[in-house]
Amino acid sequence: MTAPAEPTIPSADATDAALQRAVVHARAFVAALGDTPVRPTVGLAELRSRFAGPLPEGPSDPAAVIDELAANAEGGLVRSAGPNYYGFVIGGGVPASLAADWLTSAWDQNAGLYVIGPAAAVAEEVAGAWLAELFGLPAGVSVGYTTGATMASFTGLAAGRHALLARQGWDVERQGLFGAPEIPVVVSDESHVTIFAALQMLGMGRERVIRVPTDEQGRMRADALAGVLAGLDRPALVTAQAGNVNTGAFDPLPAIVTAVRANGGWLHVDGAFGLWAAADPARRHLVDGVGDADSWTTDAHKWLNVPYDSGLSFVRDAAAHHAAMTLGAAYYVETSGGERDPYNWVPESSRRARGFAVWAALRSLGRSGVAEMIGRTSDAARTFAAGIADLDDVRVLNDVVLNQVLVRFDDPSGDAAKGDARTAAVVAAIQEDGSIWLGGTTWHGMRAMRLSVSNWATTEAHAEAAAAVVRRIAGEIPAG
Ligand SMILES: *Cc1c(COP(=O)(O)O)cnc(C)c1O
Repeated sequence: MTAPAEPTIPSADATDAALQRAVVHARAFVAALGDTPVRPTVGLAELRSRFAGPLPEGPSDPAAVIDELAANAEGGLVRSAGPNYYGFVIGGGVPASLAADWLTSAWDQNAGLYVIGPAAAVAEEVAGAWLAELFGLPAGVSVGYTTGATMASFTGLAAGRHALLARQGWDVERQGLFGAPEIPVVVSDESHVTIFAALQMLGMGRERVIRVPTDEQGRMRADALAGVLAGLDRPALVTAQAGNVNTGAFDPLPAIVTAVRANGGWLHVDGAFGLWAAADPARRHLVDGVGDADSWTTDAHKWLNVPYDSGLSFVRDAAAHHAAMTLGAAYYVETSGGERDPYNWVPESSRRARGFAVWAALRSLGRSGVAEMIGRTSDAARTFAAGIADLDDVRVLNDVVLNQVLVRFDDPSGDAAKGDARTAAVVAAIQEDGSIWLGGTTWHGMRAMRLSVSNWATTEAHAEAAAAVVRRIAGEIPAG
């Protein structure tokens, strides 16, 4: 037995030194976000061997640990926050939101309760109202700050579940779902996978859903939805999509609203990235009707370019939202002065003060700055598509209405399997080249390349350069 160690509380100087080292490493990384390669340069085995080692037996100098962490991560980081990253639907961090996110960690507020983080609670309240206005949502919608769109949809669908069952005299939060009246759940054939994840966590079943067919752009067919709802004997929980993750297409919201109102159901809209179209006057028409839904999901960590983790859940019926999420524990301090306790609107209790970075992004960009960012990146997607459209045996599969471009590299023989192989080979070669990064997907039964322009720093010139990379590499990949 060794004697217990002396207390090893680092000094204030040690904290300061560690923060200084973090600033140095962060600034170097951010300054190089536009460099290449965009992809990582070291593999799994190397990363494991760097981070591994036995559980440390004793303390180390905090600043030295930060240097070691940065060295370990070197080459294992993706430049996904930079302007040359077009994979998935990813944003970076606009300067004010990135800096606010640092402060959020330094302040280390618990955003669960007003009493333990008053400024955090107020930043969320104000930024939430700004966003509701920007999106054209009804005045007075409630808002919750979640980890991302998955939990935002979980929250919105939980509110809908609450409301539809409460109307039948069932208190789902108290009584649970066993023995409850059934709620029909209606989704689109192309609802995002996280809608199914939310349903699975809510006890409503990933497969116990009615799927509505989509059109050639991936939009839910409103006529088919109306037919489904007309055949039901009770109100349904319906989810629509503003922004298909492959094509960027919008479900026809006005007709969907009409159909759901006729059924008396609850309409949830997943607008993880597409809801931001509302901020751009040139694209606002894409979300016509969205304000008539009942709940909405979006991500600030995608197109608003706030660092992770930052999702948002809005609900028209604040009482349903509150009932679905509140912990209602007696020891929670009830407010009497009109303060807002953020824990009442999200699945978590203690959590990060997400509102600061969202507030800072909106405060720094303003209405016109958000419009410019959404407009410019969407225009860049068109520029990219135009820059490759004339290549032989290349097809842009979608109408580029937003920031997403889907591309197919056919085989000259017309053979579908060979086209799949050629598409996969082009995507792999682009990733390996490292000048840009984008990914592949399966679209209506075929392999496709998917490009998303979601980064605040991506310009038309970047898009032209990206098209040139794709042209060069496609030319190097032999057909057949
Ligand atoms: C990204 C995305 C999601 C999931 O978002 P997370 O923030 O990763 O949870 C859901 N729906 C759509 C349409 C998306 O694009």
